[in-house]
Amino acid sequence: MNPDTAASPDHRPRVLVTRRIHEAGLQQLGEHTRLEVWDGAMPPSREELLRRAEGCEGLVTLLSDRVDGELLDRAGPQLKVVCNYAVGFNNIDVQAAAQRDVAVGNTPDVLTDATADLAVALLLAAARRLPEAIDQVRQGRWKTWEPLGLLGVDLVGKTLGIVGMGRIGLATAQRLHAGWGMRVLYTARDPKPDADSRLDARHVDLPTLLASSDFVSIHCPLTEQTAGLIDAEALARMPQHAVLVNTARGEVVDQDALAAALEKRQIFAAGLDVTTPEPLPPEHPLVGLDNCVIAPHIGSASQDSRRRMSEIAAQNVLAGLRGEPLPHPVSTGEAG
Ligand code: NAP
Repeated sequence: MNPDTAASPDHRPRVLVTRRIHEAGLQQLGEHTRLEVWDGAMPPSREELLRRAEGCEGLVTLLSDRVDGELLDRAGPQLKVVCNYAVGFNNIDVQAAAQRDVAVGNTPDVLTDATADLAVALLLAAARRLPEAIDQVRQGRWKTWEPLGLLGVDLVGKTLGIVGMGRIGLATAQRLHAGWGMRVLYTARDPKPDADSRLDARHVDLPTLLASSDFVSIHCPLTEQTAGLIDAEALARMPQHAVLVNTARGEVVDQDALAAALEKRQIFAAGLDVTTPEPLPPEHPLVGLDNCVIAPHIGSASQDSRRRMSEIAAQNVLAGLRGEPLPHPVSTGEAG
């Protein structure tokens, strides 16, 4: 063989990205790694994911990929880093990764504004019955100006309850406090002096928040403590004119209880960006309810957010491959 034409072996670390993400991060990864991107229109099957992870030193995963001991073991002992292309990381067994010395990162902050914007959009859409109104026009049912048709609920000066006053909760509260003069109540594991001083917000317990809020917006991570947090009992505490918004994770809300509450008009409306399962089957009771607005998990789906998420994922993986601390690590104390 002519030594000049023989390809030299590529010793760069192998990295798998489990869906095609924004080009910005892929470019960075491609410069330093042997990069494989799963190009399917749907996520890889479990078998495919396990197979492709084998021999990788870095993984960029999505919330639809379960990253557990089985996957980490199949990848092999050379695996150094996993970065979720999301801020939530309830799909990752962080303890299993720590036990195998695999660093885990996520992409926080850069999606905060986009997700808060969507929470406000869903709140407005649900409160002002926007999908019903749009359907009326599209389906030729708009007959005249209705003095008593499609009446929604008002926003100005109302009370907003934020369940989980973290980055996105605070950004949502800022928008609704500044724009609509809403009074802000919130839950979190610890009080947030920043929110208290900037928004005159008040840390309360969940039953108080639910009973006192006209709008409730959920922003806590999905953890053992928050799964099913908004159940029938919680919904029963909310006033009849209340609107519930969930841009966190579907599992935080008991969907059967929510469907029943919406059907009975026990609360006014709901706006959901997240459900369980995703996608929600079209025959699910929530889909057919005119007082439930559902978006297909698009909280971070803005051009800037997805580009920056891609860049952060690349930075996390490249740092992990070099054995350096990740710029955006998740911590086991933060689960979810
Ligand atoms: P974050 O800054 O970590 O905020 C989460 C907040 O939830 C923290 O303030 C935390 O309180 C609070 N919390 C934790 N456990 C709680 C509990 N049991 N009860 C009440 N509050 C609790 O996270 P983030 O960046 O705002 O993101 C929040 C979540 O939004 C993510 O975990 C993700 O699931 C979801 N998300 C969805 C989308 C989407 O596309 N729809 C996009 C981005 C994020 P402490 O600070 O006191 O611990």
